Amino acid sequence: MIELDGSFGEGGGQILRTALSLSLCTGQPFVIDRIRAGRQKPGLLRQHLTAVQAAQAIGTADTEGAALGSQRLLFRPGAVRGGDYRFAIGTAGSCTLVLQTVLPALLCADAPSTVTVSGGTHNPSAPPADFLQHAFLPLLARMGVEASLELLAHGFYPAGGGEVRLCVTPTPALRALHLCERGGAGETRAESWISGVPGHVAERELATVRQRLGLNEALCTVRTPERLQGPGNVLLVFVPSETVCEVFAGFGEHGVSAERVAHGVCREVNAYLASGAAVGEHLADQLLLPMALAGGGSFTTPVVSSHCRTNMAVIERFLPVRFEVADEGGRHRVGVQV
Ligand code: ATP
Repeated sequence: MIELDGSFGEGGGQILRTALSLSLCTGQPFVIDRIRAGRQKPGLLRQHLTAVQAAQAIGTADTEGAALGSQRLLFRPGAVRGGDYRFAIGTAGSCTLVLQTVLPALLCADAPSTVTVSGGTHNPSAPPADFLQHAFLPLLARMGVEASLELLAHGFYPAGGGEVRLCVTPTPALRALHLCERGGAGETRAESWISGVPGHVAERELATVRQRLGLNEALCTVRTPERLQGPGNVLLVFVPSETVCEVFAGFGEHGVSAERVAHGVCREVNAYLASGAAVGEHLADQLLLPMALAGGGSFTTPVVSSHCRTNMAVIERFLPVRFEVADEGGRHRVGVQV
């Protein structure tokens, strides 16, 4: 039984999600105490509880403490079964973080799977669905994974009501992936998705992006979701290169000007471009686990966050791998090996 302290390092929900994923992949049970102790509202919120329930269903697992607000969970995995699954978060909690939890397990399943999750699809502090589609899944494809994500309905905070569907084929042996040099730049473009919010918000965001990133009008598009439950706005900037397509996001917020949202995203884009790193901070978080499952991989990234370091430590508890981080001045090189 692996014993985890949920207050360790960053003390957030990632410790739990990584533990669930790797418990399913390796068959090792775990117990975690002080879940999300580092957060203002500790314990299992709807998103985390749905991740536990999804992992339980897919991995025919036994659990103790799987309840809202719980700060202790015992998880004993069984056989991982592929199939057609549907999970509802019931709030605007992030669908993509639930998918992040179960995707590694579904690679080890006995059959292909379809997983539909309803809740938030575009949340601050979580990967937007577009990030999985354009940044993360294409890299998994290079590791040998056949997976696709459909965005069925946008769900913004606080209304939620969005829906995503992941289709994935088992891939027991992942290929190592090395993403150290970014290579030649592709054409950066921006989209402002808007619904139930005055149209000038999107126009002003894109005007700021054009000015800060030097994009021409044709590369900046206003988009409206076909299906949407509540009002919302997300600004997405896609930065393709030979190595990856990075996706940066900023969320419209009451009381925050469109210009400020756009400046925030442009700052992130410019910091990424100036660093010379291949992989941004958030993509770095997502790559650790698949690279560890592959038994090898490396990337360069502008910063190694506390989130990232905490995640490495949790992965090392489940898998016989070691992460190494080297400061290269302006960027860091992260490597994993058995
Ligand atoms: P808590 O920590 O409160 O439990 P949580 O479980 O929702 O919250 P975190 O543990 O903070 O979430 O993890 C959030 C994840 O979302 C991280 O992997 C982070 O890299 C990712 N993320 C956050 N913002 C973005 C973004 N703009 N684009 C892509 N990924 C993002």
